[in-house]
Amino acid sequence: MEPQRIELPIGWAMGTVNAYLFTRPEVVLVDAGLKSEACWNALVDGLAAHGVAVTDVERVVITHAHVDHFGLAGLLAAESDATIWISDLGAPWLTDMDALWAARVAYYRDELLPPLGLPPEANEMILAGMAGLAAQADPVPPERVVTFRPDGVLQMGGQAWNVIHTPGHASMQTVFHQPETRQLLSADMLLAVAPTPVIEHPPPGQRRRPNLPLFLRSLDVVAALDVATVYPGHGRPFGDHHRVIERQRQRMAQRRDHCLELIRAGRGTIPELLDAMYAHQPPAGRLAGLWMLIGYLDLLLADGLVRLESENPQIYR
Ligand SMILES: [Zn+2]
Repeated sequence: MEPQRIELPIGWAMGTVNAYLFTRPEVVLVDAGLKSEACWNALVDGLAAHGVAVTDVERVVITHAHVDHFGLAGLLAAESDATIWISDLGAPWLTDMDALWAARVAYYRDELLPPLGLPPEANEMILAGMAGLAAQADPVPPERVVTFRPDGVLQMGGQAWNVIHTPGHASMQTVFHQPETRQLLSADMLLAVAPTPVIEHPPPGQRRRPNLPLFLRSLDVVAALDVATVYPGHGRPFGDHHRVIERQRQRMAQRRDHCLELIRAGRGTIPELLDAMYAHQPPAGRLAGLWMLIGYLDLLLADGLVRLESENPQIYR
């Protein structure tokens, strides 16, 4: 059976997030929105439109541990007997979001942001924007969490879906592919417009893993799948995933080349690059631009096309 899309309001630039419902042979929900009253009400109404009550939900499967995808999982666990499924890579976020998020904010404050050389008020805006995010998810009791392998198989809608680990937007991102019906639940790995590579804090003692290069490798993995219909984490389902992927690759190559041109023209500091490349974004949305910019710099560094002339503040040449 086809996954039924339930669109939930999140009030971010993206507007809405999708949950997907399978009603048979058991009631399975893929992803669980953001913790807010509007989102919860939309979920309850969306389930009811398919004849399903919250108490009917048997399994909730989370694609990746971002709050717009698992924020209501704790409340669903409280209001039903459902188990909450996620890959073992993502499970700590469901049970321990507060501590992990605090570690990420500390990483941004102490390590990531200072050498970028942005004005203090820009850093404050980024940190203030991050501060409230942990409150947008309720923790899930550990005994209600069931983990699956990031290369495992899930039964949903009476069919076997292959789990595929596709890091880049999130290190624990998984997508679900059903080869016979050629359906792909693509989460935030494949959207109509490419998602941002969200920078995560590395494990203690390790360096940050460049995640735009990882994302591009994951795009190759998704491009190689036999897919008729993509069910994305945001926006309407679509077909022709090869065309969508090719457009995103081209766009990112153009932006990377623009970044290289600017550096070659002597505009190699982060504030200069951000101003030149993301002037169209309002300041409050600059974090997304910053993630992309760091991604392009990671690509250029990996290809040996630029080098870091100074580490603090960072200057690229
Ligand atoms: Zn999302």
